[in-house]
Amino acid sequence: MFVSLLEPSSNGGVGIAFTDRLGGMSRGSYGPLNLGRTDVDDPAAVVANFALVRDRLGVSRAATLHQVHSADVLVVDEASYPVGRPGGELGASLPGGLSLPEADAMATRLLDVALCIRVADCVPVLFADSDAGVVAAAHAGRVGLAAGVIGATVAAMRDLGATTIRAWIGPHVCGRCYEVPAAMAHEVVGVVPETRSTTRLGTPALDLGAGCEAELARAGVPSVRVGGCTVEDPTLHSHRRDGAGAGRLGALVWLARET
Ligand SMILES: [Zn+2]
Repeated sequence: MFVSLLEPSSNGGVGIAFTDRLGGMSRGSYGPLNLGRTDVDDPAAVVANFALVRDRLGVSRAATLHQVHSADVLVVDEASYPVGRPGGELGASLPGGLSLPEADAMATRLLDVALCIRVADCVPVLFADSDAGVVAAAHAGRVGLAAGVIGATVAAMRDLGATTIRAWIGPHVCGRCYEVPAAMAHEVVGVVPETRSTTRLGTPALDLGAGCEAELARAGVPSVRVGGCTVEDPTLHSHRRDGAGAGRLGALVWLARET
């Protein structure tokens, strides 16, 4: 179920989890644990998958976004985002469901709400200041990274009182697998130079993980890398590898409820 899991009890009250393809209720080629793609999967299976993940993590609620490759950060609080409804993670894809907010990062001070970014090759980045009690999650694909989603997320956390932030860079397509047209590589490297890469064959590529690491460092945030390359690891969801039928893995961060 998890490619990586840090329990709150061993991490200053902050939970960190990255899911894989295994251990869920979905029946398609995308694998049993799909946390997105309700257009190809049975929404009821995805709801059940979220329930399994929440139960395993010991968290009551999860918040998700309609991700649009922006640098927009949503502050999740009781007023801004109705995270209390069962199945609310899937928004309008459920009958009577909510319309999910469009953004690519979330930050919160709420306890017991897992912020969940969903990806299949793009970089999920999780953030925490456990002393200040602020967490955040960002979707950093090629477009969002270049648009500044990392810096915007750190700024939103500081607005909420965070001072000493750490980050976890989750599984994503690596710099040897992410081949792109030369013009596209040039454009992104012009904004985030550390993304410069080449494939094993020597063709232009982008290293989004290195780009995230550099953007975090520029924002004063130390980071660690978690998990491998989504294309190369068959237990992870990958759009590059599986095409339009790929499922989504979840990157979740939460402040544990006080016990
Ligand atoms: Zn790779």
